[in-house]
Amino acid sequence: VFQLSLPLNFLGSVYRELRQSLLDMETLFNLQKVNVAIKDKPDAKPLVLRAGELKFENVTFGYRPDRPILKNLNLTIPGGKKVAIVGPSGCGKSTILRLLFRSYDVQEGRILIDGQDIRDVSVESVRRAIGVVPQDTPLFNDTIEHNIRYGNMEASHEQVVEAAKRAHIHETVNLFPDGYGTMVGERGMMISGGEKQRLAVSRLILKDPPLLFFDEATSALDTHTEQALLSHINSILKEKKRTSVFVAHRLRTIYDSDLIIVLKAGSVAESGTHEQLVDRAGLYSELWSTQETMFNGDDEKAVIQVEK
Ligand code: ATP
Repeated sequence: VFQLSLPLNFLGSVYRELRQSLLDMETLFNLQKVNVAIKDKPDAKPLVLRAGELKFENVTFGYRPDRPILKNLNLTIPGGKKVAIVGPSGCGKSTILRLLFRSYDVQEGRILIDGQDIRDVSVESVRRAIGVVPQDTPLFNDTIEHNIRYGNMEASHEQVVEAAKRAHIHETVNLFPDGYGTMVGERGMMISGGEKQRLAVSRLILKDPPLLFFDEATSALDTHTEQALLSHINSILKEKKRTSVFVAHRLRTIYDSDLIIVLKAGSVAESGTHEQLVDRAGLYSELWSTQETMFNGDDEKAVIQVEK
């Protein structure tokens, strides 16, 4: 018995590691086109997390060195706070998340997590500290239960269900033909973009990382579900004092952030709370009033047309 159980345990742990590396690969793919040149320095130590402060100091970066996307960027994301990055399409919002994840290294300047240059600590320890909910989460050809459990391979069935409830996907899963045993992915049942996003959130809840990134993470949800999910995410973030970074187009999803950073052409145009930025009457205030008009647009347009 002893002789048999040893190799089986060994296989079990190899299997778990394989699953874990699939999860990491998935996260990498979500952050797109990973640069294989990113390697640990010979003396790299694991990242030591304290409050979870993220800092860009004079960062210049371009996917091609002759075309900088971020230009001498300086910004601080305080530990334990909810921070939003907004700005016109293509200004480099997702790039900031990719650099924090160390999918690429900066060309100039440095990025610090709790005071440590991310090039001096092990890549693995940085990525382990980060959880991402991307715009589009690829699913594995496996059951719903396993797709959620990728967040934490040690989680029990009860923990998987609890995470699904917190991500507002539990009731939907119960409607699937085999509940949590339903196969999804390319060879399984097709599920909607909004369902995928909620699965990604439940994975993140199970992973429970100190740093959370949301890249247009609720864009496929209807307004009602989005508000319910966001308020739940907010309560988790507050309760656990996690650092979170939201990249968003729709300002209604982030206006309650502790800090809003407005990016324009790779630099910070302005930053502050919603109230401060609205008072400033700059780019944010302009975006806000345009979106508010659009948000209430249908009714208003209807009224105007009737009046005409
Ligand atoms: P959006 O709001 O549209 O999602 P964003 O502000 O998040 O945009 P990024 O995704 O950071 O913008 O991209 C910034 C710029 O870098 C864009 O011009 C984009 O085309 C370019 N870019 C992004 N990824 C790559 C890549 N892997 N290789 C080359 N260029 C890229």
